[in-house]
Amino acid sequence: MNTLRKIEEKFNTNIKILYDEPMSEHTTFKVGGKAEAFIKPESVEVLGQLVSFLQTEKQRFFILGGGSNLVVSDDGIDGAVICTRSMNKIELLQEVQGTLLLRCAAGALMDDVAAFCEANSISGLETFSGLPGTIGGAVYMNARCYECSISDVLQSVRFFNISTGKIETYSFNTSDWAYKKSPFQNGESIILEATLKCKKGSAAEIKAQNAHFVEDRKSKGHFKFPSAGSVFKNNHDFGSPSGKIIDQAGLRGFSIGGAQVAPWHGNFIINTGNATAKDIHDLVLYITEKVRQQTGFELEPEIIFTGRGFDS
Ligand SMILES: Cc1cc2nc3c(=O)[nH]c(=O)nc-3n(C[C@H](O)[C@H](O)[C@H](O)COP(=O)(O)OP(=O)(O)OC[C@H]3O[C@@H](n4cnc5c(N)ncnc54)[C@H](O)[C@@H]3O)c2cc1C
Repeated sequence: MNTLRKIEEKFNTNIKILYDEPMSEHTTFKVGGKAEAFIKPESVEVLGQLVSFLQTEKQRFFILGGGSNLVVSDDGIDGAVICTRSMNKIELLQEVQGTLLLRCAAGALMDDVAAFCEANSISGLETFSGLPGTIGGAVYMNARCYECSISDVLQSVRFFNISTGKIETYSFNTSDWAYKKSPFQNGESIILEATLKCKKGSAAEIKAQNAHFVEDRKSKGHFKFPSAGSVFKNNHDFGSPSGKIIDQAGLRGFSIGGAQVAPWHGNFIINTGNATAKDIHDLVLYITEKVRQQTGFELEPEIIFTGRGFDS
Protein backbone atom coordinates (compact mmCIF):
# COMPACT_ATOMS: atom_id res chain seq x y z
CA MET A 1 0.00 0.00 0.00
CA ASN A 2 1.21 3.51 -0.78
CA THR A 3 2.66 5.11 2.39
CA LEU A 4 0.30 8.06 2.19
CA ARG A 5 -2.65 5.66 2.17
CA LYS A 6 -1.23 4.16 5.36
CA ILE A 7 -1.59 7.47 7.24
CA GLU A 8 -5.33 7.01 7.66
CA GLU A 9 -4.82 3.50 8.98
CA LYS A 10 -2.11 4.59 11.39
CA PHE A 11 -3.92 7.65 12.72
CA ASN A 12 -7.33 6.05 12.56
CA THR A 13 -10.07 8.67 13.03
CA ASN A 14 -7.73 11.38 14.35
CA ILE A 15 -6.99 12.76 10.95
CA LYS A 16 -8.87 13.53 7.76
CA ILE A 17 -7.01 13.09 4.50
CA LEU A 18 -8.02 14.30 1.07
CA TYR A 19 -6.27 12.46 -1.76
CA ASP A 20 -5.48 14.13 -5.09
CA GLU A 21 -6.69 17.45 -3.73
CA PRO A 22 -6.48 20.33 -6.26
CA MET A 23 -4.16 22.99 -4.83
CA SER A 24 -5.93 25.63 -6.94
CA GLU A 25 -8.57 25.51 -4.20
CA HIS A 26 -6.05 26.31 -1.47
CA THR A 27 -4.05 29.15 -3.03
CA THR A 28 -5.11 32.75 -3.58
CA PHE A 29 -3.70 32.62 -7.14
CA LYS A 30 -6.19 29.81 -7.82
CA VAL A 31 -3.65 27.75 -9.75
CA GLY A 32 -1.91 24.47 -9.02
CA GLY A 33 -2.31 20.76 -9.67
CA LYS A 34 -3.06 18.05 -7.17
CA ALA A 35 -1.50 17.25 -3.82
CA GLU A 36 -1.10 13.50 -3.38
CA ALA A 37 -2.46 13.87 0.15
CA PHE A 38 -3.88 16.98 1.83
CA ILE A 39 -4.03 16.90 5.62
CA LYS A 40 -5.24 19.43 8.19
CA PRO A 41 -4.07 18.32 11.66
CA GLU A 42 -6.28 19.58 14.47
CA SER A 43 -3.55 19.74 17.08
CA VAL A 44 0.18 20.20 17.56
CA GLU A 45 0.42 16.62 18.87
CA VAL A 46 -1.13 15.12 15.74
CA LEU A 47 1.03 17.35 13.53
CA GLY A 48 4.17 16.18 15.34
CA GLN A 49 3.21 12.51 15.06
CA LEU A 50 2.32 12.94 11.40
CA VAL A 51 5.62 14.61 10.50
CA SER A 52 7.60 11.95 12.41
CA PHE A 53 5.69 9.22 10.56
CA LEU A 54 6.28 10.86 7.15
CA GLN A 55 9.97 11.19 7.92
CA THR A 56 10.29 7.56 8.94
CA GLU A 57 8.55 6.60 5.70
CA LYS A 58 10.82 9.01 3.75
CA GLN A 59 7.82 10.89 2.37
CA ARG A 60 8.06 14.52 1.33
CA PHE A 61 5.74 17.07 2.86
CA PHE A 62 4.99 20.76 2.41
CA ILE A 63 3.59 23.11 5.05
CA LEU A 64 0.71 25.27 3.85
CA GLY A 65 -0.83 28.25 5.61
CA GLY A 66 -3.31 30.38 3.68
CA GLY A 67 -1.61 29.77 0.31
CA SER A 68 -1.41 33.53 -0.31
CA ASN A 69 2.24 33.68 -1.32
CA LEU A 70 2.41 30.55 -3.42
CA VAL A 71 2.39 29.28 -6.98
CA VAL A 72 1.94 25.50 -6.99
CA SER A 73 3.01 23.66 -10.14
CA ASP A 74 0.32 22.60 -12.63
CA ASP A 75 1.77 19.09 -12.30
CA GLY A 76 0.96 19.04 -8.61
CA ILE A 77 3.02 18.46 -5.55
CA ASP A 78 4.77 15.28 -4.38
CA GLY A 79 3.94 13.79 -1.02
CA ALA A 80 1.73 15.35 1.62
CA VAL A 81 0.56 18.92 2.02
CA ILE A 82 0.05 19.69 5.70
CA CYS A 83 -2.25 22.65 6.17
CA THR A 84 -2.11 24.49 9.51
CA ARG A 85 -5.49 26.18 9.20
CA SER A 86 -7.25 24.04 11.83
CA MET A 87 -4.72 25.07 14.49
CA ASN A 88 -6.04 28.58 14.91
CA LYS A 89 -6.44 29.51 18.58
CA ILE A 90 -5.82 33.13 19.54
CA GLU A 91 -5.41 34.06 23.20
CA LEU A 92 -4.34 37.00 25.27
CA LEU A 93 -1.55 36.22 27.73
CA GLN A 94 -0.44 38.32 30.65
CA GLU A 95 0.52 41.99 30.55
CA VAL A 96 4.25 42.52 31.14
CA GLN A 97 5.27 46.10 31.95
CA GLY A 98 2.59 47.62 29.75
CA THR A 99 3.07 45.09 26.93
CA LEU A 100 0.18 42.77 26.13
CA LEU A 101 1.28 39.42 24.81
CA LEU A 102 -0.97 37.85 22.19
CA ARG A 103 -0.45 34.17 21.40
CA CYS A 104 -1.66 33.03 17.99
CA ALA A 105 -1.55 29.45 16.73
CA ALA A 106 0.11 29.19 13.32
CA GLY A 107 -3.08 28.61 11.36
CA ALA A 108 -4.93 31.66 12.69
CA LEU A 109 -5.85 33.94 9.81
CA MET A 110 -4.55 37.51 10.03
CA ASP A 111 -8.15 38.67 9.57
CA ASP A 112 -9.18 36.70 12.66
CA VAL A 113 -6.23 38.15 14.60
CA ALA A 114 -7.41 41.64 13.58
CA ALA A 115 -10.98 40.83 14.68
CA PHE A 116 -9.71 39.46 18.02
CA CYS A 117 -7.69 42.65 18.58
CA GLU A 118 -10.72 44.78 17.80
CA ALA A 119 -12.93 42.81 20.18
CA ASN A 120 -10.36 42.97 23.01
CA SER A 121 -9.02 46.53 22.53
CA ILE A 122 -5.54 45.26 21.60
CA SER A 123 -3.44 47.66 19.58
CA GLY A 124 -0.20 47.20 17.60
CA LEU A 125 -1.20 44.92 14.74
CA GLU A 126 -3.49 47.27 12.81
CA THR A 127 -1.19 47.53 9.77
CA PHE A 128 -1.54 43.76 9.25
CA SER A 129 -5.31 44.02 8.99
CA GLY A 130 -6.34 42.77 5.56
CA LEU A 131 -3.12 40.79 5.02
CA PRO A 132 -4.21 37.48 3.46
CA GLY A 133 -2.99 34.24 5.01
CA THR A 134 -2.05 32.94 8.42
CA ILE A 135 0.18 34.12 11.24
CA GLY A 136 2.49 31.13 10.57
CA GLY A 137 2.93 32.23 6.97
CA ALA A 138 3.43 35.85 8.04
CA VAL A 139 6.19 34.85 10.48
CA TYR A 140 7.83 32.55 7.93
CA MET A 141 7.82 35.33 5.29
CA ASN A 142 8.44 38.15 7.80
CA ALA A 143 5.48 39.83 6.14
CA ARG A 144 5.72 43.60 5.89
CA CYS A 145 2.73 45.90 5.68
CA TYR A 146 2.79 49.69 5.64
CA GLU A 147 6.39 49.90 6.91
CA CYS A 148 5.82 47.42 9.75
CA SER A 149 7.28 43.91 9.62
CA ILE A 150 6.17 40.96 11.74
CA SER A 151 9.66 41.03 13.27
CA ASP A 152 8.80 44.48 14.71
CA VAL A 153 6.11 42.93 16.92
CA LEU A 154 7.43 39.43 17.55
CA GLN A 155 8.24 38.19 21.05
CA SER A 156 8.73 34.44 20.54
CA VAL A 157 7.82 31.48 18.37
CA ARG A 158 7.07 27.87 19.31
CA PHE A 159 8.16 25.59 16.54
CA PHE A 160 8.60 21.94 15.68
CA ASN A 161 12.22 21.17 14.91
CA ILE A 162 12.01 18.75 11.99
CA SER A 163 15.51 17.33 12.49
CA THR A 164 15.16 16.58 16.20
CA GLY A 165 11.40 15.92 16.27
CA LYS A 166 11.16 18.22 19.32
CA ILE A 167 9.10 21.32 20.05
CA GLU A 168 11.32 24.30 20.82
CA THR A 169 10.88 27.97 21.65
CA TYR A 170 12.63 30.70 19.71
CA SER A 171 13.10 34.06 21.48
CA PHE A 172 13.23 37.05 19.19
CA ASN A 173 16.69 38.28 18.27
CA THR A 174 16.94 41.23 15.85
CA SER A 175 20.01 39.92 14.07
CA ASP A 176 18.09 36.85 12.82
CA TRP A 177 15.67 39.01 10.83
CA ALA A 178 15.77 41.27 7.79
CA TYR A 179 13.42 42.59 5.13
CA LYS A 180 11.23 39.59 4.12
CA LYS A 181 13.73 37.22 5.81
CA SER A 182 13.08 35.06 8.84
CA PRO A 183 15.16 32.39 10.57
CA PHE A 184 12.41 29.87 9.72
CA GLN A 185 13.16 29.87 5.99
CA ASN A 186 15.68 27.04 6.37
CA GLY A 187 13.15 24.23 5.84
CA GLU A 188 13.99 22.85 9.28
CA SER A 189 11.06 24.15 11.30
CA ILE A 190 7.31 24.18 11.42
CA ILE A 191 5.95 27.25 13.15
CA LEU A 192 3.34 26.21 15.71
CA GLU A 193 2.50 29.51 17.39
CA ALA A 194 3.75 33.07 17.60
CA THR A 195 3.57 35.44 20.55
CA LEU A 196 3.21 39.06 19.52
CA LYS A 197 3.87 42.26 21.46
CA CYS A 198 0.85 44.56 21.63
CA LYS A 199 -0.59 47.20 23.94
CA LYS A 200 -3.94 48.27 25.29
CA GLY A 201 -5.78 50.59 22.92
CA SER A 202 -9.14 52.15 22.26
CA ALA A 203 -11.56 49.73 20.60
CA ALA A 204 -12.99 52.47 18.38
CA GLU A 205 -9.56 53.59 17.17
CA ILE A 206 -8.40 50.03 16.48
CA LYS A 207 -11.58 49.34 14.53
CA ALA A 208 -11.13 52.53 12.49
CA GLN A 209 -7.45 51.76 11.78
CA ASN A 210 -8.19 48.15 10.78
CA ALA A 211 -10.91 49.34 8.42
CA HIS A 212 -8.60 52.02 7.01
CA PHE A 213 -5.90 49.49 6.02
CA VAL A 214 -8.42 47.06 4.52
CA GLU A 215 -9.98 49.91 2.51
CA ASP A 216 -6.56 51.07 1.33
CA ARG A 217 -5.82 47.56 0.01
CA LYS A 218 -9.20 47.45 -1.72
CA SER A 219 -8.62 50.86 -3.32
CA LYS A 220 -5.26 49.58 -4.64
CA GLY A 221 -7.03 46.66 -6.33
CA HIS A 222 -5.59 43.95 -4.08
CA PHE A 223 -8.68 41.78 -4.16
CA LYS A 224 -9.98 42.41 -7.68
CA PHE A 225 -8.43 39.25 -9.14
CA PRO A 226 -6.70 36.16 -7.77
CA SER A 227 -3.04 36.93 -7.02
CA ALA A 228 -0.33 36.41 -4.41
CA GLY A 229 0.24 40.11 -3.71
CA SER A 230 3.53 41.71 -4.67
CA VAL A 231 5.57 39.41 -6.86
CA PHE A 232 9.04 40.91 -6.43
CA LYS A 233 10.84 42.15 -3.32
CA ASN A 234 11.75 45.81 -3.15
CA ASN A 235 15.42 46.66 -3.07
CA HIS A 236 16.71 50.01 -1.78
CA ASP A 237 19.68 49.80 -4.15
CA PHE A 238 17.30 50.14 -7.14
CA GLY A 239 16.23 53.61 -5.95
CA SER A 240 12.56 52.90 -6.78
CA PRO A 241 10.03 50.28 -5.74
CA SER A 242 10.03 47.19 -7.97
CA GLY A 243 6.50 48.02 -9.18
CA LYS A 244 7.68 51.37 -10.52
CA ILE A 245 10.66 49.77 -12.27
CA ILE A 246 8.32 47.26 -13.93
CA ASP A 247 5.98 50.12 -14.97
CA GLN A 248 8.91 52.01 -16.46
CA ALA A 249 9.88 48.91 -18.43
CA GLY A 250 6.44 49.24 -20.08
CA LEU A 251 5.14 45.97 -18.68
CA ARG A 252 1.90 47.07 -17.00
CA GLY A 253 -0.93 45.04 -18.54
CA PHE A 254 1.49 42.68 -20.32
CA SER A 255 0.24 39.11 -20.26
CA ILE A 256 1.29 35.55 -20.95
CA GLY A 257 -1.68 33.19 -21.21
CA GLY A 258 -4.00 33.97 -18.34
CA ALA A 259 -1.33 35.68 -16.21
CA GLN A 260 -1.15 39.45 -16.50
CA VAL A 261 0.86 42.26 -14.92
CA ALA A 262 -2.01 44.11 -13.23
CA PRO A 263 -2.93 47.11 -15.37
CA TRP A 264 -3.04 49.20 -12.15
CA HIS A 265 0.03 47.86 -10.30
CA GLY A 266 3.38 46.85 -11.82
CA ASN A 267 4.30 44.52 -8.97
CA PHE A 268 1.08 42.49 -9.02
CA ILE A 269 0.52 39.54 -11.34
CA ILE A 270 -3.13 38.58 -11.58
CA ASN A 271 -4.91 35.47 -12.75
CA THR A 272 -7.39 36.84 -15.28
CA GLY A 273 -9.37 33.60 -15.20
CA ASN A 274 -7.55 30.72 -16.78
CA ALA A 275 -3.93 31.25 -15.78
CA THR A 276 -1.70 28.26 -15.22
CA ALA A 277 1.26 28.12 -12.87
CA LYS A 278 3.41 27.94 -16.00
CA ASP A 279 1.92 31.20 -17.32
CA ILE A 280 2.80 32.92 -14.02
CA HIS A 281 6.29 31.41 -13.99
CA ASP A 282 6.92 32.41 -17.61
CA LEU A 283 5.70 35.94 -16.91
CA VAL A 284 7.98 36.25 -13.87
CA LEU A 285 10.95 35.13 -16.00
CA TYR A 286 9.95 37.54 -18.79
CA ILE A 287 9.67 40.53 -16.41
CA THR A 288 12.99 39.64 -14.74
CA GLU A 289 14.74 39.45 -18.11
CA LYS A 290 13.22 42.69 -19.48
CA VAL A 291 14.13 44.62 -16.32
CA ARG A 292 17.65 43.14 -16.37
CA GLN A 293 18.13 44.21 -20.00
CA GLN A 294 16.74 47.71 -19.48
CA THR A 295 18.22 48.59 -16.08
CA GLY A 296 20.76 45.95 -15.06
CA PHE A 297 18.71 45.34 -11.89
CA GLU A 298 18.16 41.76 -10.79
CA LEU A 299 14.59 41.50 -9.47
CA GLU A 300 14.12 38.87 -6.79
CA PRO A 301 10.72 37.11 -6.55
CA GLU A 302 8.96 37.24 -3.23
CA ILE A 303 6.34 34.66 -4.22
CA ILE A 304 7.29 31.01 -3.79
CA PHE A 305 7.09 28.46 -6.59
CA THR A 306 6.64 24.91 -5.36
CA GLY A 307 5.68 21.48 -6.65
CA ARG A 308 6.80 19.21 -9.48
CA GLY A 309 9.22 20.95 -11.82
CA PHE A 310 9.61 23.99 -9.54
CA ASP A 311 11.30 22.35 -6.54
CA SER A 312 15.01 21.88 -6.83
C1 LIG B 1 -3.86 40.47 -2.19
C2 LIG B 1 -2.58 40.15 -1.45
C3 LIG B 1 -1.90 41.15 -0.78
C4 LIG B 1 -0.71 40.86 -0.08
N1 LIG B 1 -0.08 41.87 0.60
C5 LIG B 1 1.06 41.59 1.27
C6 LIG B 1 1.72 42.64 2.03
O1 LIG B 1 1.25 43.76 2.12
N2 LIG B 1 2.87 42.31 2.67
C7 LIG B 1 3.40 41.05 2.62
O2 LIG B 1 4.46 40.82 3.24
N3 LIG B 1 2.79 40.07 1.93
C8 LIG B 1 1.64 40.30 1.26
N4 LIG B 1 1.01 39.28 0.57
C9 LIG B 1 1.61 37.93 0.52
C10 LIG B 1 1.09 36.96 1.61
O3 LIG B 1 -0.20 37.33 2.04
C11 LIG B 1 2.02 36.91 2.81
O4 LIG B 1 3.30 36.48 2.43
C12 LIG B 1 1.46 35.97 3.92
O5 LIG B 1 2.11 36.28 5.13
C13 LIG B 1 1.63 34.48 3.59
O6 LIG B 1 0.93 33.72 4.57
P1 LIG B 1 0.23 32.34 4.20
O7 LIG B 1 -0.31 31.75 5.44
O8 LIG B 1 -0.73 32.51 3.09
O9 LIG B 1 1.51 31.50 3.71
P2 LIG B 1 1.59 30.41 2.50
O10 LIG B 1 1.40 31.14 1.22
O11 LIG B 1 0.67 29.28 2.77
O12 LIG B 1 3.07 29.92 2.66
C14 LIG B 1 4.16 30.79 2.39
C15 LIG B 1 5.45 30.09 2.87
O13 LIG B 1 5.41 29.97 4.28
C16 LIG B 1 5.57 28.62 4.67
N5 LIG B 1 4.74 28.41 5.86
C17 LIG B 1 3.45 28.76 6.04
N6 LIG B 1 3.04 28.44 7.28
C18 LIG B 1 4.10 27.86 7.90
C19 LIG B 1 4.32 27.29 9.18
N7 LIG B 1 3.36 27.24 10.11
N8 LIG B 1 5.56 26.80 9.47
C20 LIG B 1 6.55 26.82 8.56
N9 LIG B 1 6.39 27.33 7.32
C21 LIG B 1 5.19 27.85 7.00
C22 LIG B 1 5.10 27.79 3.48
O14 LIG B 1 5.69 26.50 3.47
C23 LIG B 1 5.58 28.66 2.33
O15 LIG B 1 6.95 28.40 2.08
C24 LIG B 1 -0.19 39.53 -0.09
C25 LIG B 1 -0.90 38.52 -0.78
C26 LIG B 1 -2.08 38.82 -1.42
C27 LIG B 1 -2.85 37.71 -2.13
